[in-house]
Amino acid sequence: MQQETTVVVGAGIIGLCIGLLLVRAGRKVAILEMSHPGSGASFGNSGLISVDTALPMAVPGMLRHVPGWLADPMGPVAIKPSYVATVAPWLQKWVRAGSMDRVLASADALRALHKDAFDGYRELLGRNLFADLIRTSGVVQLWETEHESRSDAVARQLREKHGVRSELLSSETLRQMFPGISSAVKRGILLPRNGYTVSPARLTKTLSEIFIQAGGDIRCERVLKLVPREGGGFNLITNVGYHQAHSVVLAAGAWTKSLLDPLSIRLPLEPERGYHLLLGDCSLELQMPIMHRERGFGFTQMEDGMCLCGTVEFAGIHAPPCEERALILRRHGEKIFPGLKGTNKRIWMGLRPSLPDSVPAIGRVAARRDLYLAAGHGHYGMVGAPATARLIGDTLMGRTPTIDPKPYSLERFKQG
Ligand SMILES: Cc1cc2nc3c(=O)[nH]c(=O)nc-3n(C[C@H](O)[C@H](O)[C@H](O)COP(=O)(O)OP(=O)(O)OC[C@H]3O[C@@H](n4cnc5c(N)ncnc54)[C@H](O)[C@@H]3O)c2cc1C
Repeated sequence: MQQETTVVVGAGIIGLCIGLLLVRAGRKVAILEMSHPGSGASFGNSGLISVDTALPMAVPGMLRHVPGWLADPMGPVAIKPSYVATVAPWLQKWVRAGSMDRVLASADALRALHKDAFDGYRELLGRNLFADLIRTSGVVQLWETEHESRSDAVARQLREKHGVRSELLSSETLRQMFPGISSAVKRGILLPRNGYTVSPARLTKTLSEIFIQAGGDIRCERVLKLVPREGGGFNLITNVGYHQAHSVVLAAGAWTKSLLDPLSIRLPLEPERGYHLLLGDCSLELQMPIMHRERGFGFTQMEDGMCLCGTVEFAGIHAPPCEERALILRRHGEKIFPGLKGTNKRIWMGLRPSLPDSVPAIGRVAARRDLYLAAGHGHYGMVGAPATARLIGDTLMGRTPTIDPKPYSLERFKQG
């Protein structure tokens, strides 16, 4: 039986940033990870570090697109037929979160979490590793429609409200910036302050190495159950052992819900499955990522190939990947760059840990002393991780948080 001060469950981008910040603050920290560090959603995402993006997924005007998306086999959203009834209550909450007043509140919360992410990573990684892993290149978003939709208008209003710099790009300018792009692409915007990592997998691997060098411990164990101890703290039962912890931080991504349910703590967390197709020997080379808003996917130039990544599938945690969803990304890619060539190097599926309002649950769990939650980052975990770590660190160590913790509280779901 081992004694640990703080146990973090999960070595994804969120758990690793938290672990590193705590160990540097002088705490004794162990991370329990059922697979290897960075093997969950943090492994193969689009890598965008969207410091100037604070747009929740559900916004006014979005709902009317959903039937068309679901009917289109190449659409950005799919629901496994046998999973429709299971996901329906979550989707209802998602729709309710898309009212304008709630969107404004969620955007404020996301803005506070995202805007200083580059500084956060610079602090965690140091200047040299930051320069090696992260590009502050700007990101382009594009559309094949001529005119702004209602949800695009909401996104624009949010950018204006938060003073986000953006440049409109005509189809002419897009053709100059990206030779070979299809004439079907009608407009775009450049978000010059956004950026990306050239390898989400290497970013998490590097953070795990720095964490260990700083005195942290990572063990390959699957946490099966948290058992509250009389007088505070927890016993953690794992597949191979048993640990005592004064405090526990749950950062287990899409799996977090299964650890909270036995404690009667309800978190409306849904795995939003997404895919990537990595192209080797690709004819396309990009200086900055491109996101296609209508098709729900994007291109990121990773260090090991061109990553076509995105789309959403609801099918639960356990259903096997649907490789067709990944191969569709190639067809989307060829629509945008008709001459696109490259070998299919890897297909990957990851589980976005998503809450209906797109705002993660971060902080102390009111009902359980010594239990902290850092989960539900949905589409924005890579950008939200450094500030999440700061917020957990401040709360756990009794410091005044630099970000108002209230919007991230689990309590908000009690209001429906
Ligand atoms: C296709 C796709 C594209 C995306 N693109 C972007 C993007 O461009 N920018 C962005 O910011 N975000 C993006 N995201 C979202 C981002 O990947 C996630 O928000 C983020 O990775 C979540 O990190 P996490 O640490 O919470 O979860 P994870 O990375 O999933 O880590 C959780 C870890 O917990 C471990 N674990 C779970 N249960 C247990 C247990 N019982 N015991 C021990 N260990 C356990 C898992 O093995 C896993 O390693 C994308 C996601 C997908 C799927």
